[in-house]
Amino acid sequence: MRFYNTFSKSKEEFIPQNPPTVSFYTCGPTVYDYFHIGNARSFIMADVLRRYLEYKGFKVKFVMNLTDVDDRIIKKSIDEKKPSHVVSDFYANAFFEDINLLKIKPATVFPKATQHVSEMIEMIRELEERGVAYNVDGNVFYDVSKFTDYGKLSGKNIEELSAGARVEVNDNKKNPLDFALWKKAKEGEPSWDSPWGKGRPGWHIECSAMSSKHLGETIDIHAGGNDLIFPHHENEIAQSEAAHNHKFVKYWIHFGFLNINEEKMSKSLGNFLTAREILKKYSAEAIRLFFLQTYYGGPLNFSFNLLAAAEKGVEKIKNLAEKIESEIKKDDNIGLVPDFNIKYYYDEFEKVMDDDLNTPQACAVIFDFIRSANKIISETESLHVSFFIDLKKFLTETAENVFGIIHFEELYKKSAQLDGKLINLIIDLRTKLKKEKNFLLADSIRDELNKIGIELKDGKDSTTYKFK
Ligand code: AMP
Ligand code: ZN
Repeated sequence: MRFYNTFSKSKEEFIPQNPPTVSFYTCGPTVYDYFHIGNARSFIMADVLRRYLEYKGFKVKFVMNLTDVDDRIIKKSIDEKKPSHVVSDFYANAFFEDINLLKIKPATVFPKATQHVSEMIEMIRELEERGVAYNVDGNVFYDVSKFTDYGKLSGKNIEELSAGARVEVNDNKKNPLDFALWKKAKEGEPSWDSPWGKGRPGWHIECSAMSSKHLGETIDIHAGGNDLIFPHHENEIAQSEAAHNHKFVKYWIHFGFLNINEEKMSKSLGNFLTAREILKKYSAEAIRLFFLQTYYGGPLNFSFNLLAAAEKGVEKIKNLAEKIESEIKKDDNIGLVPDFNIKYYYDEFEKVMDDDLNTPQACAVIFDFIRSANKIISETESLHVSFFIDLKKFLTETAENVFGIIHFEELYKKSAQLDGKLINLIIDLRTKLKKEKNFLLADSIRDELNKIGIELKDGKDSTTYKFK
């Protein structure tokens, strides 16, 4: 398996430190608002990467943090006249609801920044002792000039970065690129005691401290959106490697932006659509398919037309899945076992996914599979149940478990609900017949239902049913 590593700027063979375990950290949301469909792209692609590693037999320890102390949360808490933790708790819950609706698998751990402040303080102390951090009146900064590899991830040197970067202006800093590890408390802001006085952690130290606590000092994969390469991930490397003295991350994986009208979708530009708004009109499966049809590292332009096309694609998968379910129920074991090379599709799926997670090609393999299966079904009078079992296995392992673009259980639920409604309808009609004293027809309905495995029980006031 090979991935494009932002650090080496090349595709590299994936070899985790302790197979079959893979430690995987991805930057999660800052919980000050509902997340938008651009954020959803990064969350979904990280989810698919994790699921594919699991498909390949790895045991993935997947950690996604929640930034629940931040300037934007504080601003919202002031605007809404609510304590900061009320705002962050509210949007953290909304985040969990929305990722559940998007069928994103929950992380192994969802650490919250405010629950790891002591680990952050410990790490800042370590950096201070090593001489790479300095305290100016209760604000602690990282001294970028002390870290020789600074700029390696974003591929720039310190001079270029200083000139081009939008870095926080702060007179206390020695160098414009130095960044805050600890921010001195301001009136009314959430704060914690520390060796430098009351304050709160900077954003970058959160991820360094939480990743090492939950995954160890060197992690296999660290992911996030492209916008995090600089300064966030560059700063995480500087902090973790200076504190621990060895490599922080083996593979850096970054997701391309979701753009809208060729511009990055972002809260600050105000050009965003929340995931929950989109979920009112489109299924989670369609949203996921829309993202999967583009290479994860490149840009993608948001379009309702493409979402609608993805919904049609999902319908195609569903139609075949429903057919499969009804055929498996029939359990035909005398029909034809067609010549259908399922192994070819597994091989193709893995071949393209192993090559830097080529999900657009992998989707093409799945749709090719569906076309071929449908052709056999339409051309063959009677097919053996084993054929449908094989079809279901392939779709479950690829389209469901890796991509999350079909969910067989939900079809069961839907068809079970429909079965129940239809049987109750028949029971109501039969009750009417009995009231009209048409016992002959009422009995024959009971007998016919019995023949197809549905047993009716006439009680004093009502009739119930059960499957035999
Ligand atoms: P935030 O809540 O802003 O910290 O972002 C959460 C995650 O979404 C990070 O991994 C960001 O890189 C990612 N992200 C933000 N905007 C976009 C976008 N327009 N397209 C793709 N990913 C994004
Ligand atoms: Zn982070």
